[in-house]
Amino acid sequence: MASTKCPKCAAPVTFDTGTKFVKCSYCESQIFIDRSGAGFYYAVPFSVAEADAIGLFKRWAAGPARAKDLDKHAQIAGIRKQYFPVYMFKRDVKGREEVLVEPAGSTTLPGLHKLRIPAGDIKIFDEGFDIGGAELVKPDIEMLSYMDSLPGKAKEQALVYFPIWRMDYVFDQKRFEVVIDASTGEIFSANFPARSSTAYMVVAAAGFVAFALEGLLALSSLAVAASLMALTVVGIFAASYYVARRL
Ligand SMILES: [Zn+2]
Repeated sequence: MASTKCPKCAAPVTFDTGTKFVKCSYCESQIFIDRSGAGFYYAVPFSVAEADAIGLFKRWAAGPARAKDLDKHAQIAGIRKQYFPVYMFKRDVKGREEVLVEPAGSTTLPGLHKLRIPAGDIKIFDEGFDIGGAELVKPDIEMLSYMDSLPGKAKEQALVYFPIWRMDYVFDQKRFEVVIDASTGEIFSANFPARSSTAYMVVAAAGFVAFALEGLLALSSLAVAASLMALTVVGIFAASYYVARRL
């Protein structure tokens, strides 16, 4: 048996070594135990349902940086509802409170360092919390591994189960993964089918060549060269517009 102090009410809490989670017998707080001490255990509820997650993905896929018609041709191969564990560190940095989020699970997850934990939505994670059929990803990174490299002084640390939709999709016979933050609806993606920039390069190169030739022509006939340049400008605009809309 080992013992620690409840981070909420300071009551002594005893637990078997090797136990990760324990309940304070005094205030009933769910506490998790790490080599660095005791902390709270929270979860952020899902506020984005599966259908909404798919809708957000489609809207994201239709964005200008994505491959043409990605929204229409991406085939969703699977969608998983998960609670991903992160550590939330509250630090006192020169009198100011800073909140830092670090992964507690070793699975790679795009956008993880950009996760923001909404202060108002956070709930104590205990037996009463409904996980709504989500898969709980097990924490397998020790909190201690972060403690030394964080700025300032420790104020509080907690394990937070963060709600995500993990989606796999296939486009052009390749598989991609996207993560939808089920708290804010934000989309995270490490790589995705991007819009080809070749067409833009062709337009730019053609415009450059035309201007160079017109520049030479201007040495003999300024008026003709000037009107050709005007036409070139119109042509480049029209071609760029076409590329932006259709390719
Ligand atoms: Zn307590």
